[in-house]
Amino acid sequence: MTQTAFATHEVFNQSPPFEDVDLYLADRPLVEAVAASGGASAERELSDFGKHWGSADMAARGRVANENTPKLRSFDSRGNRRDEVEFHPAYHELMAHSAHAGVHNSTWTREGAPAGGASEVVRAAKFYIASQVETGHLCPITMTRASVAALASQPGLLAKVMPVLSSRAYDPSFTPWWTKRGMTVGMGMTEKQGGTDVRSNMTRAERAAEGYRITGHKWFMSAPMCDAFLVLAQAGQGLSCFFVPRFVPDGSINAIHFQRLKDKLGNRSNASSEVEFHGAYGELVGEEGKGIRTIIQMVQLTRQDCAIASAGLMRSGLAHATHHARHRSVFQKHLADQPLMQAVLSDMALNVEASIALVMRLCRAFDRAPQEAAEAAYMRLLTPAIKYWVCKSAPGFLYEAMECLGGNGYVEEGILARHYRESPVNAIWEGSGNVMCLDVLRALSREPDAAAAVLQQLAGESRGLSGAAEAAAFIAKAFRRSDGERVARIAVEKLALLAACAALNAVAPRSAELFASTRLAGTHGGMYGATEIAADDVRRLLERALP
Ligand SMILES: Cc1cc2nc3c(=O)[nH]c(=O)nc-3n(C[C@H](O)[C@H](O)[C@H](O)COP(=O)(O)OP(=O)(O)OC[C@H]3O[C@@H](n4cnc5c(N)ncnc54)[C@H](O)[C@@H]3O)c2cc1C
Repeated sequence: MTQTAFATHEVFNQSPPFEDVDLYLADRPLVEAVAASGGASAERELSDFGKHWGSADMAARGRVANENTPKLRSFDSRGNRRDEVEFHPAYHELMAHSAHAGVHNSTWTREGAPAGGASEVVRAAKFYIASQVETGHLCPITMTRASVAALASQPGLLAKVMPVLSSRAYDPSFTPWWTKRGMTVGMGMTEKQGGTDVRSNMTRAERAAEGYRITGHKWFMSAPMCDAFLVLAQAGQGLSCFFVPRFVPDGSINAIHFQRLKDKLGNRSNASSEVEFHGAYGELVGEEGKGIRTIIQMVQLTRQDCAIASAGLMRSGLAHATHHARHRSVFQKHLADQPLMQAVLSDMALNVEASIALVMRLCRAFDRAPQEAAEAAYMRLLTPAIKYWVCKSAPGFLYEAMECLGGNGYVEEGILARHYRESPVNAIWEGSGNVMCLDVLRALSREPDAAAAVLQQLAGESRGLSGAAEAAAFIAKAFRRSDGERVARIAVEKLALLAACAALNAVAPRSAELFASTRLAGTHGGMYGATEIAADDVRRLLERALP
């Protein structure tokens, strides 16, 4: 133990920093979930990524990027409009590291087709690891990756953009996208009068000699220094999707005027703007009037990333809590050796095992959906259910992780206070909790046979686990009700839990039974640790969580 002498006291019995760790190989449930979903051959690449992101340097970048929040520079010193947002260099470094690893594009070929293989799973492991260090910069990273799915509706535009978008260079210069070494893409849907209800969008798009002129506002538009945005606006045939770049084709700055930046609870390294479009130049993406259908392709992928990032935040909370408990003594005994702390930590470890197994199973469905109808059905039904359960679990989980560190957990110098403030946003944006439940109901009503087949498959894969058969029956019955919205939250939560049991059963059957018996069979109180896990299982879960 390092002891530092000061004039008045010595510092001891404080845990050392949790740094310089391989965030991949130190995470057994992650390694197993990646392997079970087809990503085993990427172990070396993921371990290199895990070591890099687990370094003290990257942790420092994450802290500094959040302490030095972005600033809006509306005008230059002569009064000319600039509409630039300045970020701390640490933010740009985080962006560059994620971009170099392809977190913003590796699931696509250079032409914009799905890359295939286990590209979703491998990229998700990186996203999961990066989110343990700094989550704000992942907003433009996820949107850029997801934008390709919407741009696919306009093949000519996709072909123009992909040579720049598929580059692993990060180029933060404020110059036209077609002159850059790499680019990022954001999205603007939410207006003051409605975010969920995008049909109420008032922003207008009028045909012009070249492209469209966009006039109106967005109440939230994050990562404003993106090179272009996919924006919803009302055109002649109804709500439509537009590619709105920061520079118009003649090289002048587009009429995108940022009004101010939001002062947010968390997500502070990332800027989220309020914006007006003053006849801004835009190119149509997909057909006029099919804007929602076009942009939902993008949103499906950002929802997937919300779940991955929330699982990553929880993993980080668990790792920091376990590490601390192994070094901190209270009443002459390490916290990690005290039965009540073991009950809390092992129960949390179980939640993380289930979350990562579930998320990786979902990413496997994204990998295989283009070829396999059953995987496409899994993806359609489970994406909103998994976003719902994983993202809504995170704030409570992180609060508990914070408490494991006692007072240190509540202080900004540690990472857990930041994770805690960050965690609610994944449940709110890209469709809030209720909206996810309604989306599950929509999938059920539009494709009832495919949804029933998914449920049957989950029941089969979790056969024999405590409470699984009862949960499957409950879900099927709830979803048949004509007033399904009344019970949608309980049914969607059970659907996610059942899917987690099924995913975990394929990776770690003993953990799956523990998860099922505590979460589905109803032997769990309201708090973490409010259940009985046998001593052998406690040891095994904690050893798997952090060697
Ligand atoms: C930090 C941050 C960054 C963001 N960045 C962007 C961005 O870059 N681009 C962008 O377009 N948007 C962005 N958003 C906006 C975000 O996507 C919306 O806030 C979100 O979709 C919810 O919309 P709303 O705020 O209008 O709430 P509302 O639509 O008013 O919803 C309020 C609540 O009502 C619930 N609800 C809605 N409909 C129903 C129903 N039928 N039955 C029951 N309950 C219902 C919702 O679940 C929600 O809990 C961002 C938000 C945040 C917080």
